[in-house]
Amino acid sequence: MKKNKIVLKTGEILVQTERQKKAMSKIYIIGTGPGNRQHMTEKALTAIEKSEVIIGYETYLNLIAELITNKTVFSSKMRKEKERCQQAIDLALKGKAVSLISGGDPGIYGMAGILLELIKKEQYTIDVEIIPGISAVNAAAAVLGAPLMHDFVCISLSDLLTDWQLIKKRIHCAAQGDFVIALYNPCSRKRINQIKEAQQILLKYKDKSTPVGVVKNGMRDQEESFLTSLDMFLDYPIDMSTLIIIGNSHTYIADNKMITPRGYSI
Ligand code: SAH
Repeated sequence: MKKNKIVLKTGEILVQTERQKKAMSKIYIIGTGPGNRQHMTEKALTAIEKSEVIIGYETYLNLIAELITNKTVFSSKMRKEKERCQQAIDLALKGKAVSLISGGDPGIYGMAGILLELIKKEQYTIDVEIIPGISAVNAAAAVLGAPLMHDFVCISLSDLLTDWQLIKKRIHCAAQGDFVIALYNPCSRKRINQIKEAQQILLKYKDKSTPVGVVKNGMRDQEESFLTSLDMFLDYPIDMSTLIIIGNSHTYIADNKMITPRGYSI
């Protein structure tokens, strides 16, 4: 029988027969973009169509409700990421075609990493197909203008899984490096101080008039966006549906658009 030899980076050799390969369980991990069908890829839509079971965080599933009416749906609350992955793994191993839904892009503060980690830890034989999506940073940038035309960094202000000291260090470094900075998870009902501390750090390196874009529910029905400055942006609605983009020292606002020059002479 024909055998496929796969040499892993560790030097380990995985030998799979064609039959084993065909019988392999599969999980699609699907990035559904910022929140409407038009911003989902064809590939994401096809994978959902092919799946019997859809698993995800309820907020993201609500955004794609119309696409999953005839599926078995398992919806769970925030912070149940591990349980969602385990459920996807168990059902895939039983032969079900499973899609795990992740808002935006699954590889950016999403579900791709934890799923791969769990599969590796338990040595499951499951094929994972990761389908990328438009991340909040892309959506927000498009709403605001062209703020990401030069080097930028994304920082999540959520300290649930990351030490706050490390997050602060990264804000210092990014500001010192004059990067455009996109802040994910800026503020929740329980976490309200991080964004204030972040602003204070940024003001040490960046001018208080530095342009800032605030995008809430970007590319969803309730979208709101604001162009403001580093000293004023806390006056705008900032919550867990908001992404904030802070300009670099060349970023400016013109005709209601936030623009970071790439360097062309115009
Ligand atoms: N994987 C997602 C990010 C998950 S972290 C992605 O790639 O977009 C969740 C954070 O993303 C939110 O707290 C918010 O900061 C941001 N976010 C997600 N969707 C958003 C949207 N439509 N508009 C603004 N911010 C959004």
